[in-house]
Amino acid sequence: MNRNQISIVAERIYEPEKKKDKPISSYFGEDTFNTNEMRKRLSKPVLKKIENAKKTDKSLDQETADAVAKAMKEWALQKGATHYAHWFQPMTGATAEKHDAFIELKGQDNVIEYFSARELIQGEPDASSFPSGGIRATFEARGYTVWDMSSPAFIKKNGISCTLCIPCAFISYTGEALDKKTPLLRAERAIEKSAMRILKLLGNTTSTKVNSNCGAEQEYFLIDKNYYYKREDLVLAGCTVFGAAPAKGQELEDQYFGSIKERIQSYMHDVEETLYKLGIPAKTRHNEVAPSQYEIAPIYESTNIAADHNQLIMDTLRTVAKRHHLSLLLHEKPFAEINGSGKHLNWSLSTDDGINLLNPGKTPHDNIQFLIFLSAVIRAVHKHGDILRASVASSGNDHRLGAQEAPPAIISVFLGDQLTKILEDIDEGISTKAADQAIIDLGISSLPILSKDSTDRNRTSPFAFTGNKFEFRAVGSSQSVAFPATIMNTIVAESIDEIAQKLEAKKNTDIKKATLEVIREEYKIFKNIIFNGDGYSVEWHNEAEKRELPNLRTTPQALSALITQKAYTLFEKYEVLNNIELESRYTIRLERFIRDIDIEIKAMLNIAQTQILPAGLSYQTNIADSIAKTIKVLGNEINIDLEKNLLKTVSDLNCEILEKTNSLKNNYTQASQICDKNEKAIYYAYKMKESMTSLRNAVDLLETLIDDDKWPLPKFWEMLFIC
Ligand code: ADP
Ligand code: MG
Repeated sequence: MNRNQISIVAERIYEPEKKKDKPISSYFGEDTFNTNEMRKRLSKPVLKKIENAKKTDKSLDQETADAVAKAMKEWALQKGATHYAHWFQPMTGATAEKHDAFIELKGQDNVIEYFSARELIQGEPDASSFPSGGIRATFEARGYTVWDMSSPAFIKKNGISCTLCIPCAFISYTGEALDKKTPLLRAERAIEKSAMRILKLLGNTTSTKVNSNCGAEQEYFLIDKNYYYKREDLVLAGCTVFGAAPAKGQELEDQYFGSIKERIQSYMHDVEETLYKLGIPAKTRHNEVAPSQYEIAPIYESTNIAADHNQLIMDTLRTVAKRHHLSLLLHEKPFAEINGSGKHLNWSLSTDDGINLLNPGKTPHDNIQFLIFLSAVIRAVHKHGDILRASVASSGNDHRLGAQEAPPAIISVFLGDQLTKILEDIDEGISTKAADQAIIDLGISSLPILSKDSTDRNRTSPFAFTGNKFEFRAVGSSQSVAFPATIMNTIVAESIDEIAQKLEAKKNTDIKKATLEVIREEYKIFKNIIFNGDGYSVEWHNEAEKRELPNLRTTPQALSALITQKAYTLFEKYEVLNNIELESRYTIRLERFIRDIDIEIKAMLNIAQTQILPAGLSYQTNIADSIAKTIKVLGNEINIDLEKNLLKTVSDLNCEILEKTNSLKNNYTQASQICDKNEKAIYYAYKMKESMTSLRNAVDLLETLIDDDKWPLPKFWEMLFIC
C-alpha cells in the first residue's frame, strides 16, 4: 500500500461512536459480582461469614461456599455468560484463563447449568507450560488456582462471548507461588502486621487493619492499525527495531495535555465505559509528552485490587484499540529518540478507619505518626534500593531508564526542601521556626503544614514523595505492578519492624521523644539516598557515584539483587517468597530478558534481509540505470559526478548494511553457544545491543536517502502523526 493511501484509509475507517448518555454512576461495576450484587443475592449470615473469612484469611465452610457459587452462577447466567474461568497472573506478566462451560450432562441427551463450590474455589490447570523458573519438574506439572475472595469476580466480554472470570492465586502442587498475586497477598499481610505494631506503640486504639494502596498511572501509544501490520518488529517485538527520527518529534511541546484528537477521545470513551462496568474507577486521561502517547489513571485502590485492575486496564486498552482500527503499544520504548512509556506507581498506607499514614496531618500526634512512616519508607529504599531497582528490570525498561526522559537507573528519594529541612532539623536537634506555618511544638521541632505544591515539582526522581503518598516512577509501562508493589510492601514492612524494635527498646522514654530520637539515628544513615535535584544531570551521576549509590543500567546487573543473602533473608523472614520462589523469579526475568532481545534480533535480521536490502539494492540499480541512460542520451562529456556520488553513497551503505547484518548474525551464533544464563544475558546487554545499534544506524541513514516509494516500512512521522 502506498503511503498516501494509508493516510486516507486512516481517516475513512473512523466513524464516531454513537453517543452514550447514561451517567457513569448508573452502571459502575455492573459487570462485577461486587458487594452490592452479593447483598442482593445472599443472606445476611452468609455475607457475614464472607466478611469474616476475608478478614481472617480463612477459607469458607462448604455450605457458605456453595451459597456463593450458586448466587454467582445465577448472576453470571443472567449476564449471558456461558463459561467460567479462573483468572490468574502467571509469571509471564500477562493474565491467564482456562474456560469451562457451565454444563454437566443430565442423562444422555441433556445438560444442565452447573457450578458448585468446588469449581469456584479451586481449579487445576495443567501448569507445565507456564514459566516456573525451575520450581516444578514437568512430571509434577500440576498447579492449583485458588479463588481470591478479596477481588470481585467479573464478566469478560469478548466479541459475542461472555465469560465469568474468577480472580485467583496460582500455586504449585508443592505449595510454591507460581504467580504474581500470591506474593503480593503475602506482602500485604506482612505490612499490615508491622504497621499495626507501630500504631499500637503510638497509642492507636481505633484501627484494626492497615493496607497498602496503589494508583498506577498508565502510559501508552496508539497508532493506526494499517501501519502496525506493516511492521514485523512492532507485531512481534512490540517496538520498532529500525526507523529514522521524524523531522518533528516532541520539541514543540504541543502534545502534552493538548486537546485530544476526536478519534482518540472516542477510543478513550469506549475504554472507560468498559472499565466502569468492571468497577474500575478510571479518573484521568490526557495526551502525554510524545506524539501519539497518552495516559490513563484510575483512582487508587487497595494494592491487590489495583494490581488486578491494572492488568484489566492494559487488556481493555488493547482489545478496544482493535475496534477503533488502532494498535496499542505498551512497550517501554517503541520508538527510538522519542519518549518511552512508564507507569508511575503511587503508593501509600492507610488504616481501616480511614487514616492515610503518609499524610502529614494537623495534630502533633498525626505528625509523629507521619514522620515515622515517612522515615520507614526512606529507610527501606535506602536499605533495599537494589531490590527495588531489580523489580523494574526488563529489556524494555533498559531503553528507558537513564535516557533523559525517565528517571535514571540510580535509585534515590525525592522529598522536597521543606521535608528535608524538617528531617535535618530533627537531626540537629533544633527547633524549626517555620514562621506562621508552624503549627505545633514537639518539644524539639515544630512542623509546618506541608503544602502539597511544595513537595512535587520534580519529575526526574525515580521515587518521590508527593504530598501524601510516594510515587515509584521507574516501573515499566508493560509491567504488572504486582511485583514492584510486593517489593515495596516487604521492604517497608521490615523497616517499620526494625524501627518498632528500636522504639520498644526505649520504652521508658516518652513516645514522642523516643520517636524523634529514633528518626535522628536513622536519618544519619538513610539521608544518603535523599536527592532533591535534577536526576537527569551529569552532576547527579557523579554525586551518586561519590555516595556509592549503584547505577545499574542493564537488566542482568539489576536482577542480581534478587539472589543475594540480604534478599533471601528479607523475603524468607516475611514469608513473602522462599529461596526457591525468589530464585525462580530471578531466573524467569533473566530468561525473559534474553528472549525479548532474541525476538528483536530475529525481527531485525528478517527485516534487514528481506525488506531493507532488496529496497536498497533496487534503488542502487535505479540510480545506475539512470546514469547509464543519461550517458547514452547525452554522451560521455556530460558531468554526472553528483549522480555518481549518490550511487557510491547508496552502494557503500548497502554494503555496510550487508556487513553489519552478517556481523549481527555471527554474534548471535556465538551467543547461542553460551550456556550460562547470566553470562549470556550480559553478552546480550552489551555485545548484542552494540551490534544491533550499529546495524540500526546504517539502516536509519539509508531511510533518509532512499526513494520514498521504495521504503518498505511505515516511517515514524506517519505512525506518530497520522491518526
Ligand atoms: P499527579 O500529579 O502525579 O498526576 P495525582 O494526584 O493525579 O498525581 O495522582 C496520580 C495517581 O495517584 C492516581 O491514580 C491517584 O488516585 C493516586 N493517588 C492519589 N492519592 C493516593 C494515595 N494516598 N495512595 C496511593 N495512590 C494515590
Ligand atoms: Mg503522578
